[in-house]
Amino acid sequence: MPEGHTVHRIARQFARDLVGHRPAVSSPQGRFAAGAALLDGRELLTSAAVGKQLFLGFEGGHVLRVHLGLYGAWDFAGVVSPLEDGVAAVASLGAPRVRRRLRMGEGEREGDVGAEVEEFPPAPVGQVRVRIATEATVADLRGPTACEVLDPAATAAAIDRLGPDPAVEDDVRARVTGTPSEAAGPGAGDVVVQRLTARRTPVGQLLMDQAVVAGIGNIYRAELLYRARLDPHTPGTRVPRETARALWDDWALLLADGIRTGVMLTREDLDEAGRAAALADPAERHWVYGRAGEPCRTCGTPVAVEEMAGRRLYWCPTCQR
Ligand SMILES: [Zn+2]
Repeated sequence: MPEGHTVHRIARQFARDLVGHRPAVSSPQGRFAAGAALLDGRELLTSAAVGKQLFLGFEGGHVLRVHLGLYGAWDFAGVVSPLEDGVAAVASLGAPRVRRRLRMGEGEREGDVGAEVEEFPPAPVGQVRVRIATEATVADLRGPTACEVLDPAATAAAIDRLGPDPAVEDDVRARVTGTPSEAAGPGAGDVVVQRLTARRTPVGQLLMDQAVVAGIGNIYRAELLYRARLDPHTPGTRVPRETARALWDDWALLLADGIRTGVMLTREDLDEAGRAAALADPAERHWVYGRAGEPCRTCGTPVAVEEMAGRRLYWCPTCQR
């Protein structure tokens, strides 16, 4: 499942290449025909991510909310601008091409799909729920869990249901819906500390609860807990407040890095060469995630795996207690 960094990258790709345009919006598959008709030809004003959800604000107050879920992905084709000047993401290594196809979503993979686009606009491939197209750039959405048009009030409610996201620097609700969030109240970090320590639910479950803190998925969950050397089964009420605060700070660090690189690289023990190797090789990127039975990189204990809240949880029984 795409984690928060991917959705932020998608939001930035829309900001780069589609915001400020009046794209044609259609549903090649047909399942989103009514929603697409509401948006077709309207100016795309804003693009924002909160956790794993994307909010595209169109003129007239219509907001397209998308959650990719387990299998969803966006394909960008045509003019697909590099996200950060001077920092080549893995997906855009090499000479920037004017026309390319870039897939964002579908688990950990992000990458060019095919080399040059032969024709433009490309014919829809597979079940395209929605196509958002300018004369230069096409964005195709396939397989989302949620794809719906909301009014400003419903958008505000959807955003308010999500916990804090450290990559959200402004008042997204105000930007997308025009109505600011209620009085600032405690800072985002304070909210997360409070929500992480208020319940007896295991911290490994709380970190995946999007109402506690937004954007963490299965990979970042396992890695954050390892980096904190925290037993995933620790009840939230037993997590010291400074540990909860450190988890939030660490999530901010990892998320910013993931947004920049497009890769979930969670090992802080690597030198520059090691980091380059890990960017190229998924097997070198993580402390515990996906390494069941392999020796812990720190202590040699076989990495344990179990089900927690329906997802596989990886952890080191020696380092994390
Ligand atoms: Zn260990």
